[in-house]
This record gives sequence, C-alpha cells and structure tokens, in this order.
Amino acid sequence: MQSRDSFYINGKWVPASGKTRIEVINASTEEVMATIPDGDEKDANAAVAAARAAFDSWSTTTPAMRGDYLRKIQEGLKARSEELAKIIAGEVGMPLKLSAMIQVGSPVANFGIYAKLVNAFQWQEVTGNSLVVREPVGVVVCITPWNYPLHQIAAKVAAALAAGCTVVLKPSEVAPLNAFVLADVIDSVGLPAGVFNLVTGTGPVIGEALVRHPEVDMISFTGSTRAGKRISEVASAGVKRVALELGGKSASVILDDADLPAAVKGTVNACFLNSGQTCSAHTRMLVPESRYEEVAKLAMETAKNFTVGDPFGGSAKLGPLVSGAQRERVRNYIRKGIEEGAELLCGGPEAPDGLPKGYYVKPTIFGRVKPDSTIAQEEIFGPVLSIITYRDEDDAVKIANGTAYGLAGGVWSGSDEHALKFARRMRTGQVDINGGAFNLGAPFGGYKQSGGGREMGPYGLEEFLEYKSLQFKPDAAALTASAVR
Ligand code: NAD
Repeated sequence: MQSRDSFYINGKWVPASGKTRIEVINASTEEVMATIPDGDEKDANAAVAAARAAFDSWSTTTPAMRGDYLRKIQEGLKARSEELAKIIAGEVGMPLKLSAMIQVGSPVANFGIYAKLVNAFQWQEVTGNSLVVREPVGVVVCITPWNYPLHQIAAKVAAALAAGCTVVLKPSEVAPLNAFVLADVIDSVGLPAGVFNLVTGTGPVIGEALVRHPEVDMISFTGSTRAGKRISEVASAGVKRVALELGGKSASVILDDADLPAAVKGTVNACFLNSGQTCSAHTRMLVPESRYEEVAKLAMETAKNFTVGDPFGGSAKLGPLVSGAQRERVRNYIRKGIEEGAELLCGGPEAPDGLPKGYYVKPTIFGRVKPDSTIAQEEIFGPVLSIITYRDEDDAVKIANGTAYGLAGGVWSGSDEHALKFARRMRTGQVDINGGAFNLGAPFGGYKQSGGGREMGPYGLEEFLEYKSLQFKPDAAALTASAVR
C-alpha cells in the first residue's frame, strides 16, 4: 500500500495544507506500512466548503439516481475486495480470511442495501391536512474508529448519501488506508464534486475543526465514549445534530435451562472476535452460581481453539491488537483483574510464546469476577472475558444492566420465550438470542453511555433525515394518495 499525500475534496485529489505526516503501523510487524497527511483547520474548511456547495444540487436528486451511484460504489469496492482485505488485516490485525468476510464483506453489502433501500423508502406521507416530507439534514461530518474501519464508514456514508446529504469523512488515523480506497472508488464512479470529501488527521485538531464548523449540520460519530462526550460539547455550541455510537460492556446471560456448551462457546466467540476489539463484544458472561465450575471448564476448553498468530499466516484465529498503546492498555486491565482478586482461568498479561513482534495479547478468561470490579465495568477492548455468577434472574438483570453502557448482549436459554422475556428486561440496543446472527438490516446502537444513535437499514437512513410538515386546505391535490410515494 503506497503512502498518500492528498485529500479528496470537491471531486479532486488536492495536497494537504498541513505538512506533517501520520505513520500507519502494521499491527503484526510493527513496521510503518504507509504515511498519510495530518490535516489541519484549513483542510477542514476546504472540505466543508465543498460539501456545502454541493448540497443544494445533491439534495434534490431523485432517490433512483442516488441508488445508482450507491450501486456503482458497491461494485467498485467489490472489485477491490482482495486489496482491501489485505490493507485492513495489516492496519487492524484481523486474520485475512475473516477480514475479507467481515471487514470488507459487510461494507460492500451495506452499499448494496442502501442502493435498494433508497428506492423502497417512504419519503413522504399524509397525516390529516399535512403532507409530511423527509429531507436530508444537510452537510454531515462522519468521524469513525479503527476497529471495523470500513464497516463503520459504510454504515454512515452509504446512509448519508442515500438520504441526500453531502459528506466529509474523517476516518481513524490508526486505520485510514481503506478510506482512501473508498475515495478512489467514489472518484471512479463520477459522484458529483463535493458530495463526498475525505480528510485525515487527529481528533483534537482536524476532528474538532470539523465538528465546530458553522456550515456543518450534523456529526455522525463512532468511537470511544470519551471522544463522544467531547464532540457533543463542541457541537452543542452550534446546536448541531449529533449521532453517537460509543463503547460497550455487553453481557451474555446464560439462563439455567440453556445448552451450556453451545452458550459458552457462543459467548467466548462473541467476546474474542477481532481480538476483542469489537464495541458489541460480549465481554461479561453471566452464569448461575450453581453452574460456575462447569462453565469455567468449558470456557477454558473453548479458549484453546483461539490460536494467536500472524493474520497473514492462514491458521490463526486471533491476530494482534491494533497498536502498542492498545496492547499496553489491555495488559494493564489484565493485571488489574488479578490485583482485584478475580480467578485467572487462562491467558495473562505476558506476551504469547513465539511472537516477539506484533501487538499480541493472550486470550484471557477471568472467573468469579465481582460485578462492580474494574474489569467488569470498563471497556477493555481486548480478548478478555469476565465470568460473573448470579443468584437468580432478578440478580442477573441487575448485573447485566449494572454498567454505564448498553450497546449489545446475549441471552441463552432452552426456550426462546424464556430468553425473550429476559431480553426485554435488558437495557441495551441489541440482544442475540441463542447466538442469533448479526443483521445488517436491524437497528444498531446503544442505550445510556453507549450513545443514542441507530445505524443500519432504514433506521440508519432516518438518522440523516429531517421531517418537514406542509399544511394544505383539506381538498388539496397534494394530499391525495397519488401524491404520496
Ligand atoms: P476514538 O474515540 O479514540 O476515535 C474515534 C474517532 O474519533 C477517530 O477518528 C478519532 O480521530 C476521532 N476523535 C477523537 N477525539 C476527537 C475529538 N475530540 N474531536 C473529534 N474527533 C475526535 O476511538 P477508537 O479508539 O478509534 O475506537 C475504539 C472505540 O470505538 C471503542 O470505545 C469502541 O467501543 C468504540 N466503537 C463503538 C462502536 C459503536 O457502534 N457503538 C463501533 C465501533 C467502535
């Protein structure tokens, strides 16, 4: 992957104003894979000006036209799938096969989903003497993290473009190279100038310049709760719409009638995917006190399958963490868990054997973790699972809901009805019942400090829309069924 020295602004690749560069590090070799520009306020201003200038025209295009562009972007990304999978496996460290399937498969699918949805969506409806129309919110700044970099970009950019918004994307400076490929693709399909713009740099500098900018109408942010709070503060000065997708500490609750081996295996998988660097990871496994010994044994058995190694090597299930800083953070949490008296069932803070290079961490499971301890409360973002025991279902609900977060979760039970009853009591945006699979068409987002945004499918499209009510005299033609689409 070659280095990049330009931003995509107003339909052209233009040199960055800032002359400093950011190094993008390969997670498994610790070597510099490429460098990117460290953008500044001037770059932010140029990108927003382009998006503002393009808005009037793009916002009045037909849904069918926007759908055609989205389909072409989907095809362009698909054609570069192999290259993208390699880039993301390098940037993030996810094993290549999984990277191709998840990190690239999902964004490709998402552009296709919005290409269809934009045509099926009900853009207006009649209520009483009003025609209620949906209109794009305006110029949108999309700020994204590194863990599923292109997936998070697609969830925002495809939906915002479908809505008729114009976009400035500021991807994570840790895993930005995939975003440059998206910009190449968008350029190649001839999207009108200024509709999509790409700048890179750090959060506090170019990120905040974008969030503050008076010509920006909305910020769609995915990342840490810390940065989400700061972005809300800065955006509030301009009363901008802010959609937040933040951290999590999700509980997988195993009820007493569950198929224990399936439940434990499913939970460990849902915790360790992408080396635990998943916002919706099931990082707390809640089990009946009486089943703890069985569960601990099964969990340790399952963890043995999570071989750690080179993401390009073919057989490893877990790659390295994304960076040295992330590795240190996770190791510190593991040390903290030991200090706080949890039972270390497997793993630990030491580097895995035979991997002197790369940001690897051993898959780690703690047993008998106290619900209010640090490792049970804070987002670790590494392959660390906490097993917590509960007395009865009321206790399990209390523990499951007892963190600042509410992003995802799971329930395991021999009966779907029993699981559903429990799932309804969980204060969280998604619950997987007995390992139900992730659905790109279902709303994704959080309760509480996981943020209040909702992405994916029609819910994600609505996030970028305003309502406008137009009142008519009762017999106006605009209110007849034929006017409604
Ligand atoms: P991060 O908050 O450090 O950075 C995310 C993005 O925000 C980056 O592009 C960064 O440059 C930018 N940023 C940081 N500070 C900013 C500021 N003051 N103003 C403007 N922009 C700023 O997060 P990360 O380390 O990249 O990602 C990991 C976090 O993201 C985890 O907490 C994870 O749970 C969360 N996440 C949430 C979801 C979700 O959908 N809820 C999905 C993935 C990741």
